[in-house]
Amino acid sequence: MEKKSPIRMCAICRERKEKGELVKIVREPSGKISVEKDKRINGRSVYLCKKSECLAKAIKSKLISRTLGEVDDSIYEEIKLAQNK
Ligand SMILES: [Zn+2]
Repeated sequence: MEKKSPIRMCAICRERKEKGELVKIVREPSGKISVEKDKRINGRSVYLCKKSECLAKAIKSKLISRTLGEVDDSIYEEIKLAQNK
């Protein structure tokens, strides 16, 4: 049987995609906000797709800090790297 990965939605353009096609930004229990890489992190999260315009809109609208709390600007570099992976 074919294994399907879960479907998640980009918080900006609302497109639904397989989880692997999105970048997940998580607020860890410690309060640190980071981009989920290989290891699964539980916590409040936001998904963004890999379109650069969605990242640009997320920065402009301060979506991440509004949803997850105060973030350092370096998070956007991390997201960009994850988008281009
Ligand atoms: Zn998007």
